[in-house]
Amino acid sequence: MHELSLVTGMLDMVRNSAEENCINKVNRINLVVGKLSMVMIDSLQFCFEALRDQEPLFQGTELIIEERDAILLCQECGTKFILKSNYSFLCPDCGHANAEMISGRELYVDSYEGDDTEWCR
Ligand SMILES: [Zn+2]
Repeated sequence: MHELSLVTGMLDMVRNSAEENCINKVNRINLVVGKLSMVMIDSLQFCFEALRDQEPLFQGTELIIEERDAILLCQECGTKFILKSNYSFLCPDCGHANAEMISGRELYVDSYEGDDTEWCR
């Protein structure tokens, strides 16, 4: 299952960073997911909820997912446009089908929030 390994990787990354920064409780993880990243949001949430309560660090952690539109840049006239559900790469301005995708496949942890431990300072 694709989403399960994504969530595992995400939790590993946040855990490492939390340890470095003396955070003993993560309250929220802000994840950015491009609409063309081939990830099912529901499935991602489901896997996250299944995994988070297995560790004290992630108990009650909220996963906030920001879905980003796929943005195309027309190579003929420079117009930027959002890829619609019909998956047309035709430029709405000049009609050429010569567009490059500049976003939409991203998948990364934008930030996370947590509580610091006192004894660590
Ligand atoms: Zn164009």
